[in-house]
Amino acid sequence: MAQFELITSQNDIGVAQRAFERLLDSAMPRCPGTFMIGYQGGNVETKSLRSNRDIWHHRQIVTEGVKYPRYWNAFGLAADLRSTGSNKITVEINSPIVGAAPAVAGLFAREVSSGRLALLHSGKVGGGKAGVGQSAFVGWFDGTPVQVSNAERRGKKREAFLIALLDDPKGVRGVSKFVSAVAAFKARDSTIDLRRMTLQELRRRALAAERLPKKSARTSFVFKRNPYVAGHAKRRADGRCDLCSKPAPFVFDNEPFLECHHVLPLSDGGTDTIDNTVALCPNCHRRMHLDPADTDLERLRRRAVGKG
Ligand SMILES: [Zn+2]
Ligand SMILES: [Zn+2]
Repeated sequence: MAQFELITSQNDIGVAQRAFERLLDSAMPRCPGTFMIGYQGGNVETKSLRSNRDIWHHRQIVTEGVKYPRYWNAFGLAADLRSTGSNKITVEINSPIVGAAPAVAGLFAREVSSGRLALLHSGKVGGGKAGVGQSAFVGWFDGTPVQVSNAERRGKKREAFLIALLDDPKGVRGVSKFVSAVAAFKARDSTIDLRRMTLQELRRRALAAERLPKKSARTSFVFKRNPYVAGHAKRRADGRCDLCSKPAPFVFDNEPFLECHHVLPLSDGGTDTIDNTVALCPNCHRRMHLDPADTDLERLRRRAVGKG
């Protein structure tokens, strides 16, 4: 995994932000006219919005009303850009003006081997439903993970995605790819969309995904989980636990509450596929993790493959 060193001085961050701006401006012409950009708590009007075929971009320095003054770099999908009304931000790639702010997801860093400046992102993309945050996107996005250390914190290492090397003439492609991936992730991470799909539709999408979950060498990069596989298991269970057959104990978010369970755990080489996944009530789920009986395992194996 490529190694990067976090940039934290105000001067270095300023140099990196300007390199990032040059990179964006070289590939994204200014859009004539005035645009409204919606953010949490309001709208901002801009005459300096930029766009290419894939994404739009607006930036400004934000110092008021925030804990960490930051370079605010907002991005959205070009296909959604409107000249009237408010434009929704897909993702912000912000950097603190100075230091390393844990609440700000963008990171400027220097590649250790080459000294090149780069833009990284922690993978914390926000939005969507509660409980869907960094780990969900990190497990889902097929980006380039790199290791970044922070000299000011005794070299403490963390992982991030490489978005672009700032002197790469094609660097905007990395930005476009990232913004598009976040947009797809946010659209995909919606139980409402899953609810609209038929069992057959869920099955088709579940089968279309890779058979083996993606796993990287580092533990913080979690298994890639297929939402259609989980959606399929719950739909197939039809409101009843696949083990005890009792109705789900309560309704949550307008759906009978059941939990997805892999019959052969992913950590033991199990696959994130519909023939290895069942939907269980919380009691049975806990039991299967604490003390699975052979007869129960056999029953779930049969349920998963649709024979029980
Ligand atoms: Zn049960
Ligand atoms: Zn489980």
